[in-house]
Amino acid sequence: MTTEKTDRSNLIPFSSRLREGRALAQDVWSIFNAANLPADCINLGQGYMNFAPPKWVTQGAEEALQSVAPNHYSHPKGRIRLREALSNFYSPRFGRKLDVDSEILVTSGQYSVFTAFLEQGDEVIMFEPFFDQYLPSVTFNGGKPVYVPLHPPSKDKAHPSSGDWTIDIKEVRAAITPRTKIIIVNTPHNPVGKVFTRKELEDIAAVAEEFNLLVMSDEVYDCLVFDNNEHVRIANLPGMWDRTVTVGSAGKAFAATGWRVGWLIGPPSILTPTLAATTRIVFCTNSPLQEAAACGLEQAEERKFFETQRDEYAERRAILTNVFDELGMVYSMPEGTYFVLLDISGVQFPEDYPFPPSVLGRGRDFRPCWFIALEVGVSTIPVSEFYCEEHANIGEAYARFAFCKDVDTLKRAADRLKNLKKYLK
Ligand code: PMP
Repeated sequence: MTTEKTDRSNLIPFSSRLREGRALAQDVWSIFNAANLPADCINLGQGYMNFAPPKWVTQGAEEALQSVAPNHYSHPKGRIRLREALSNFYSPRFGRKLDVDSEILVTSGQYSVFTAFLEQGDEVIMFEPFFDQYLPSVTFNGGKPVYVPLHPPSKDKAHPSSGDWTIDIKEVRAAITPRTKIIIVNTPHNPVGKVFTRKELEDIAAVAEEFNLLVMSDEVYDCLVFDNNEHVRIANLPGMWDRTVTVGSAGKAFAATGWRVGWLIGPPSILTPTLAATTRIVFCTNSPLQEAAACGLEQAEERKFFETQRDEYAERRAILTNVFDELGMVYSMPEGTYFVLLDISGVQFPEDYPFPPSVLGRGRDFRPCWFIALEVGVSTIPVSEFYCEEHANIGEAYARFAFCKDVDTLKRAADRLKNLKKYLK
């Protein structure tokens, strides 16, 4: 009998697929997590609200919990009440009567689209900076991400807007290979705040048509478009309905990011295979909160909820942009979403500042973001994280501030940010 203890902490090797898509890398959210930062640091990092969803929406969940059916499995397509509410809300926005049985799918993610459509080695084009979840969703399903950068505004532009981040359609074309299967479009765009123009979407649509690509149009911020900018849906461009799946989210629409209720809108040729995949991945999305989302969509128009919410976000945006203006710092005025990118390349910090190893090993912007969090007391997200390694230097000049916080918190953050003055070149 041996007295030596065997190490039983890692008996079973985990799948190598986790080595792809940065699934094992410490993600930026946990580095800039409240637990790692001083307790009083104001969190403008991760994009979730510090306020509750409207009462008339959560009431829908409360009623659902008190009844029987909504506590049980939903149809994998989603609860009929929600599909009907989605059809009523979105049909005018898509200029067609959306069929609740075949053109709307309630899900908790975009993952199942990739499962349904990717073969091993198929390529997926995404614009950088990109929402980080796309990457593992592609690689876990055998796909290969292909990156096309958005070009930042030129440095001599004093007051750029998110619209000054531009695509070069020639670069999109150059990225196409015989294996290209999907292109992801995200408008309004996280983290840039860009609302893609009709012309840009027409150019992308022409490429999708020429090379027979599926377009995943991530429009989860469609209810947050400011200053009368037009939110164009690529699915509505000529011929594009048949190849486009549009993504929406109750998390953004009703300030409820933890609900995990989202939806896909598209033709049966895309949604039927996606339904087959999602049914086998999660079967259905949680039922009571689907009822709440339905309740929200049913009443939103009458209550002018989205208009009011947008105006409230515009006010929140102004609290941050005003202080950046006061400091003379350059930012891209976001046309949509609740994010603003600030140019932090002029923030000076001591090279020997005690940065933790998790920060030192990453893009240069991790250091000013960490420094600002500790010295100024406002946490943000370094934008290099939204780029592939080869292009990370493009993002390194920027920090992403989330303004999905109440006015009071944003005002306190703005007061603290005034202290940045002493660290500017
Ligand atoms: N797409 C984009 C561009 C996002 O920013 C997010 C959330 N940060 C999502 C999709 C996912 O939305 P949800 O968390 O509401 O599922």
